[in-house]
Amino acid sequence: MNEKTNLKSLSYRELVGKLRDMGEKPYRATQIFNWIWKKGETDIMRFSDIKKSLRGQLNEMFFVPKLVEKEGVASSDGSVKFIFELPDGNEIESVFIPDRDRRTVCVSTQVGCPIGCKFCATGLLLGYKRNLEAWEIVEQVLRISLALGVRISNVVYMGMGEPFLNYDAVVASAELLNSDHALNIGARKITISTVGIIPGIYRLSAHPKQFKLAISLHSAIQEKREEIVPIARRYPLKELKKAIFAYYHAKKRFITFEYVLLPGFNDSDEDIEAIDRFLKGLPSKINIIPFNPFPGARFRAPTEEEIACFHTKLLTLPYTVTLRRSKGQDVRAACGQLALLREGKVDVKPLMKGHDL
Ligand code: SF4
Repeated sequence: MNEKTNLKSLSYRELVGKLRDMGEKPYRATQIFNWIWKKGETDIMRFSDIKKSLRGQLNEMFFVPKLVEKEGVASSDGSVKFIFELPDGNEIESVFIPDRDRRTVCVSTQVGCPIGCKFCATGLLLGYKRNLEAWEIVEQVLRISLALGVRISNVVYMGMGEPFLNYDAVVASAELLNSDHALNIGARKITISTVGIIPGIYRLSAHPKQFKLAISLHSAIQEKREEIVPIARRYPLKELKKAIFAYYHAKKRFITFEYVLLPGFNDSDEDIEAIDRFLKGLPSKINIIPFNPFPGARFRAPTEEEIACFHTKLLTLPYTVTLRRSKGQDVRAACGQLALLREGKVDVKPLMKGHDL
């Protein structure tokens, strides 16, 4: 059992407080954050701009953990999927997505996911193990930035896990990503996505920072939504709509709706009319994500014609509509494909046991 305190578990303010108790000035916290959150140093004795006696003292009290990069697989489209090992031996995936002047990292917030959406490999193939701590979320961005030698401009919480089932750690990690003492990523460049956990939406509405909200909608028809997003039974569309409007009134920001296109399931005229009714009065952007298949999936990928037809029909609605071509499909890094599948190394059948595929 490690009796020392994890330096990466502290906010800047908490670290200033600890240093003050030791008789040290606040600028020491800036130096320490610079080492751990900008340079990625994990050996306290190498914090070379801090006097040796203080380094020794800090080393007695604190430790600096890191995520270990197990695999980095580059896709032909420029995105890179990373598999990280956590200190307890669990593994998670994160994806680097370059797009014009943006360098985005898609982070995981849980090991696996308890939601079990029927179009997503994470929940169906992996199940759920635990929530990530805030530092484990931020660390994904730091390690990718250091490994690739690039400054990360955007972060999306759309990897493994449902962010609002781990609200406190997710928001603490977003604050650290945003802090100019740590990764200094603009709040408006940080998007937290939820499948519709209503209490989390209300809490984020009251948060002072302008973090962006994305809602994974996938169907605006209650029965259909329940079929593919089981937690929709607990958080029905009627209540979800109220929460989303509350967020909009508090933040005055466009909300993005993710819509995974499942051909023959959620792309009929009736589905489009339901989307229109659900979004009426709400400045929104709808992001169409053509379904990305994975082993054992119940749905197939839409054809180019099906994608074009759905896209064209949605464009008749008074909302911004974008078509997201998921990156990284060839290395299983695209939306809904994160399930720690290493080609040829994992037999998915036992993992799928008990799931309704
Ligand atoms: S889509 Fe998101 S919430 Fe649904 S199972 Fe996958 S990771 Fe979980």
